[in-house]
Amino acid sequence: LIRNAKKELMFKVVVIGDFGVGKTSIIKRYAEGIYSTSYKITIGIDFSIKKLNWNENTHIIIQLWDVAGHERFGSLTSVYYRYAAAAIIVFDLTRPETFKSVKKWLYDLRSKIAKSVPIILLANKGDVNISNVPSCIIDFCDKNDILAWFVTSAKDDTNIDEAMFILIKTIYEDY
Ligand code: GDP
Ligand code: MG
Repeated sequence: LIRNAKKELMFKVVVIGDFGVGKTSIIKRYAEGIYSTSYKITIGIDFSIKKLNWNENTHIIIQLWDVAGHERFGSLTSVYYRYAAAAIIVFDLTRPETFKSVKKWLYDLRSKIAKSVPIILLANKGDVNISNVPSCIIDFCDKNDILAWFVTSAKDDTNIDEAMFILIKTIYEDY
């Protein structure tokens, strides 16, 4: 009799977007349930782990990779993207120029990753301003093959679990 023989799947998810949009805050909120207003100034690659009891036979372990400062150079090395199963692109609703950068991050990702991966787009800081959602966002996601988009708040814990669920469900179904 084999009990507790749950399968464990590990997926790497990269979180990209301009400096200050809330990537680290979203990761910490999702993986650790915490939020802090202090900027993290560490440089390097860092990741957080979230373990999910996905279904009767499966645990899913999500490795959320945080660029921790390197995004200020405008692009990342292919080592950061390597073996990623999915990507999250974040922009900041209070700074419209960070939405313009989404295209650049999409290009950076797709030019450095071997296979096509599911991507979600997060319009973060929705607690401050939701009237700023770009009117072209639905069209933008369609045209750029982005799976889904959400208005999120790492501060208020809005839509982060929901967004992650859609992303992980897609990774799992494609797996
Ligand atoms: P990163 O550079 O993309 O990792 O951004 P951080 O997570 O370091 O966040 C940058 C700043 O924005 C910090 O002061 C955060 O506290 C703040 N911030 C992050 N998410 C939110 C949010 O959802 N709402 C608000 N109001 N501020 C946020
Ligand atoms: Mg950060």
